[in-house]
Amino acid sequence: MTLRGRLTAAFLAVVLGPVLLGAFFVASTVASVDRGRSTERLAVAAATVRTAVDALCQQLRAAADAVALTPDHAGAAGQVVSRGLAAAVRVTDQAGRVTYATPGSPPAPWRDCAADAPAFGPVSALAVRVDLRDPAGVGLGAVAAAQPVDPAFVARLAAVTGVAVTLLDGAAAPARVAHTTEATGVRDAVLGAAGRVDGEAVTETADGRYVRRVGPTSGQPLPLVLSVPSDQPPGLRGALVGAVLLAALLAVAVAWRLARVTTRPLVELAGAVDRVAGGDLGTRVPVRSRDEIGRLAGAFNRMTRETGSYVAALTSSRDQLRGHLAVLGDTLASTHDLQRILRVILHSAIAATGARAGAVLLLDSGGVLVAQCTEGLDGRLPADDPPDSAPLRVPVGAGVVGAVAATGEARRGRIEPSEVPAGEPRCQTYVAVPFAAPGAAPADPPGRGAESAAAARPGDPAPRPGVDPAPEAGALGVLALYDRLGADEFDDDDLRTLRTFAGHAAVAVDNVRVHEEAQRLSLTDPLTGLWNYRYLRESMRREVERANRFGRMLSVLALDLDRFKQVNDTYGHPAGDAVLAEFARRVRGEIREVDLAFRQGGEEFVVLLPETDARGAAIVADRLGAAIRDTPIAVHGHGGTPVTLVVTVSIGIAVYPDHGTTGQQVLDAADDALYTAKDAGRDTWRVVSARRTPPVREIPVPAAAVSPADGFPRAGAGPAPPAGGAAPGEPEPCGAAPDAARAGPAGGASSGPHPPRQTRGR
Ligand code: GH3
Ligand code: MG
Ligand code: MG
Repeated sequence: MTLRGRLTAAFLAVVLGPVLLGAFFVASTVASVDRGRSTERLAVAAATVRTAVDALCQQLRAAADAVALTPDHAGAAGQVVSRGLAAAVRVTDQAGRVTYATPGSPPAPWRDCAADAPAFGPVSALAVRVDLRDPAGVGLGAVAAAQPVDPAFVARLAAVTGVAVTLLDGAAAPARVAHTTEATGVRDAVLGAAGRVDGEAVTETADGRYVRRVGPTSGQPLPLVLSVPSDQPPGLRGALVGAVLLAALLAVAVAWRLARVTTRPLVELAGAVDRVAGGDLGTRVPVRSRDEIGRLAGAFNRMTRETGSYVAALTSSRDQLRGHLAVLGDTLASTHDLQRILRVILHSAIAATGARAGAVLLLDSGGVLVAQCTEGLDGRLPADDPPDSAPLRVPVGAGVVGAVAATGEARRGRIEPSEVPAGEPRCQTYVAVPFAAPGAAPADPPGRGAESAAAARPGDPAPRPGVDPAPEAGALGVLALYDRLGADEFDDDDLRTLRTFAGHAAVAVDNVRVHEEAQRLSLTDPLTGLWNYRYLRESMRREVERANRFGRMLSVLALDLDRFKQVNDTYGHPAGDAVLAEFARRVRGEIREVDLAFRQGGEEFVVLLPETDARGAAIVADRLGAAIRDTPIAVHGHGGTPVTLVVTVSIGIAVYPDHGTTGQQVLDAADDALYTAKDAGRDTWRVVSARRTPPVREIPVPAAAVSPADGFPRAGAGPAPPAGGAAPGEPEPCGAAPDAARAGPAGGASSGPHPPRQTRGR
């Protein structure tokens, strides 16, 4: 059964039940009141009938007595009749023969008022008989006075009693009607009802009449039936039935309408739910009212709208994620630009988790986490530390990010504004995942400060990429996200997602590091760790271009160890190698981070000094010469004997753009100046004499520059100063005493060559 059917039935039961009950109550009450009143009327009427019959009988008795007492019976009878005391008088003799009768006497049978047990049977008159006796008391006959029982008599009775009166006829049982005041159509019904009751009981006919019998009894010998019509208003039952039917019809109509109004939104809702279940999230139902069903419809609409936008958001974030993953894959596959890779990883992680901000931090050699890239951190860092001017820096072990790096354990949670660790971004929720260095850390790039992009720590553990990036302490970096969209904290799913991205970051760092290492190996000299000749050519081109673009100077130093062949010859090749390595180390220690040092080949080196003029280059050359010369180099000679060697270096200086328009020209000029320095006696430096366009002229090598037979340089054997002399403020040409040479360029003395001093058995 449908809900509509049930509602209709319930409404009908609720409405029709009371209506039916009411109708029944009204009908039964009216019927019982009516019956009571009718019974009462009939009782009163019966008493009246008896009284009337009794009075009539007494009147007839008086009339009969009067006739009997008068000797002239005929005259007395005539008077009695004429006065209306009786309708007829009959005198009979002892034998019962009629001796006198007034004219017009009713026919027999006459019913005697004094009959003890009157029976049914035809009655034509009511009579009283009085015996006639002579004075001696001998019976002479009888006088009877009668009143005819005819329709007029019955009508009079009816008029006296106010009810319909019927006189029965027939033998023992009421069989037929003698006279009646009832209408013809109801006689049979009255007769039938009269036959069903005995004594004084009241019965009811089918057409609503109440019927009661009166007599025949002693004192009232006539077989009479009294009947009254019902007092009920005619058509009451019909009206009641009609009212009930009307109420039922109305109730059905109202119930149907109500059920329809009530269930229609539910039916619509059910259909809409079906459509939503089928995938149509655009389904809406009309909201027609503010009642519960209206609220339900509104809630349904809101729910489908929310679900629709949620699905749309999910779909778009899935598409976005696909896009990010594609970009990430492309980036990982196509570039070794670590910054770019980390940027893409960070962006993808932010998109995947719905964070508002994030950062990738890598550990630098000083044990500080430095942000390599950030997103959305503007305004989250202290005002005096904006992310673009100074990157986010967190020492390992400090704050949230530092603790993650120190312990190697991921963290997530909520943080009160007042509890945000100093130096870390302001946020409400965060998640931070460490990732371990998956490869061996490369040494610092040679000849330059520790500015490797990877900034890896030497000695980091080296798990392979792709596995859990943070199994233990010793993280290479931290991937941190801040403030998930919405108020929720980052959950375990976010943590897992972030671990995946951190794994990518670890792989990227590893790849870049391997790549950098390979590049470094191809560009560096294995013995000294300085850049090699190949890289010199490239750097020369780049630095010249840069100097050109910014209108700056670039100084080139060409260095050559003095009398190095002798070191090899005297102490062996390994000792020579050790000298070369130590020389390189000292050169590195004397130059700035932006300067570049190269091993050009053998014991010949080049140093590039960007943004440096000849004066600055001379100062550097001075410093380099002193750094080599002043501290003897400890090596192992043949058989492992420790020896300490004093080594010197000659340096030629050329400056772009003063001494050449191309890198090669400047290099050649520096070489020329180197030869000038060698010629000047070694352990000194020279600036190229003039612009080398057109090509610088050959510098004559003085005889003194030729190595003596013992191969050791000689003090004071240097050549003449370079043609054109030194620039103002530059050191004097060589040729001074060896001791004076140590005073350096500032002292105005020229440097001279020194033999490698030998101090054995230190
Ligand atoms: P000067 O430059 O003062 O004129 O004298 P020199 O002895 O240094 O002259 P030269 O340039 O002729 O000698 C270079 C020597 O450097 C030759 C070679 O034995 C040595 N040499 C070149 N490469 C290496 C190397 O890789 N290791 C060692 N131990 N020696 C090398
Ligand atoms: Mg040399
Ligand atoms: Mg040489």
